[in-house]
Amino acid sequence: MRRSVVLLVAVVLMTSCADREEADLILTGGKVAVVDDAFSVHETIVVRDGRVLAVGDAGLADRFEAARTIDLEGRLVVPGFNDTHTHISGSARRHVDLAGTESIVEIQALVRAKAAEMGEGEWITGYGWSEDELAEQRRPLRHDLDEAAPRNPVLLTRAGAHSAVASSLALELAGIDESTPQPEGGVIERDESGELNGVIRERQGIVGRLVPDATPGELRESHVQVLRDQLGLGITSIVQAGVSPEGFTAWQSIYEEFGEQLPRATVQPFWNGAKRLAERGYGPGWGDGRFRVGAIKVLVDGGFTGPAAYTIEPYPGRPDYRGLLNVPEDELRALIMEAKSLGWQMGFHAIGDAAIQLTVEAFVDALEANARQDHRHYLNHFTVPPTVETLDLMAEHAIAIVQQPNFTYTLEGRYVENLDGYRLEHNNPVKTPMEHGVFMALSSDILPIDPRVGLYAAVTRKGMSGRVFGPDEAITIEEAIRGYTANGAWVTFEEGTKGTLEPGMLADMVVLSEDLLTIDPERIMDVEVDMTIVGGAVLYERSAP
Ligand SMILES: [Zn+2]
Repeated sequence: MRRSVVLLVAVVLMTSCADREEADLILTGGKVAVVDDAFSVHETIVVRDGRVLAVGDAGLADRFEAARTIDLEGRLVVPGFNDTHTHISGSARRHVDLAGTESIVEIQALVRAKAAEMGEGEWITGYGWSEDELAEQRRPLRHDLDEAAPRNPVLLTRAGAHSAVASSLALELAGIDESTPQPEGGVIERDESGELNGVIRERQGIVGRLVPDATPGELRESHVQVLRDQLGLGITSIVQAGVSPEGFTAWQSIYEEFGEQLPRATVQPFWNGAKRLAERGYGPGWGDGRFRVGAIKVLVDGGFTGPAAYTIEPYPGRPDYRGLLNVPEDELRALIMEAKSLGWQMGFHAIGDAAIQLTVEAFVDALEANARQDHRHYLNHFTVPPTVETLDLMAEHAIAIVQQPNFTYTLEGRYVENLDGYRLEHNNPVKTPMEHGVFMALSSDILPIDPRVGLYAAVTRKGMSGRVFGPDEAITIEEAIRGYTANGAWVTFEEGTKGTLEPGMLADMVVLSEDLLTIDPERIMDVEVDMTIVGGAVLYERSAP
């Protein structure tokens, strides 16, 4: 009797061991959003050899023996974010990132710390402050910088790069004082008493020219760090929107050395350097799952600083002004024909409705002149909603959009100033193009690079002030997640390998601290990225607070 029990136990143990398949990683005990067509949600995901082996219910985990098993404790797993329009670069050691700073006091602390790091007399630069986001509700001025770093020349550029503030020492070194004449096209600001307040508009170069160049090694080190930082935002793939042939070389060498530790990258060559790249062997479709060449980029019009987006109707209060085309129409049509004949996918910057319409019509003419299936040409930004006729043309010819819903949030002030009526309410439309059957992927650009802001704005349509713009443009959180994951993979022709967590796909995924699918939308931006996994490798884990 006793012997048979022992035998039975042994048999059970043996069969359970023999039945358990090997795996590398199991995540179980939470919600796994696969982002397949049905948007199915499971409890467990199993990874082997860098790919998803299986998804299923809680019991699935028992069928595998894994090197590491992670208890999700109810948390949500989604495919890694695929940010299809970013601008990432390295910066000098003297540079302070001011994006997201919330007060002048905080800016002063960053400058003070950098001064201590760099030493007396060294230039300190910064980028990204915006008075709209500062608690003091004013711009940092000369004396604020003097307080923080009296013995360092400091120059801090506002987000958008149309103005900067310089410290007293910086102005002195540049030879600028109350007697300096105003530079052509720019302004050296004075306060009510006629004293310089440190702000220079449009011509910051009169001070910036003195800042020593960064060394290539310094830039490369910082570039790698910025790429690593994206993992902390849950980003597992990026598209760099615009590289020169020289820039391409820098990216390529970084990916040769560090590729497996970074988000996967696709770079969009600027059209004017694309031929040189192709001659060197990096033409359309070159690359692999870590680093590849994507669509060429052309800036068809400007943006909302200026403003310079090319619009159908004039700007409010400026009856003769409709913005600017960067490329004359005949030139744009010619380059589209040429790019198409060379086999390039095209992903063009078009912000105003007139620029959008012109680009779409030029794409359509080129497509009809030389039909090529599955071209995946797309427009970036797409801020001012075009006519229904243009949307219908896009749907008919499968011209897609890479949209930044976060612009509605971050650039609210700019839009309120420069747009009106329907085009203000429906800025950066999301729902309307989708309803017309236009394919759309979501991305961040750099305002800021953070998918959570885009998800929040896509779902709420709220600006920074809390004002809602065109509530009927809002999409569901499921649609927004799909836009930021699976749809991004389509843009780079990689939907067969990534973007969803279906078995066989690359195991690129993110563990989020809270359930995006059920959370109050107001709290979307508070959700933390707990873990980022690329190709089955855990590349980022948030340290306990
Ligand atoms: Zn951009």
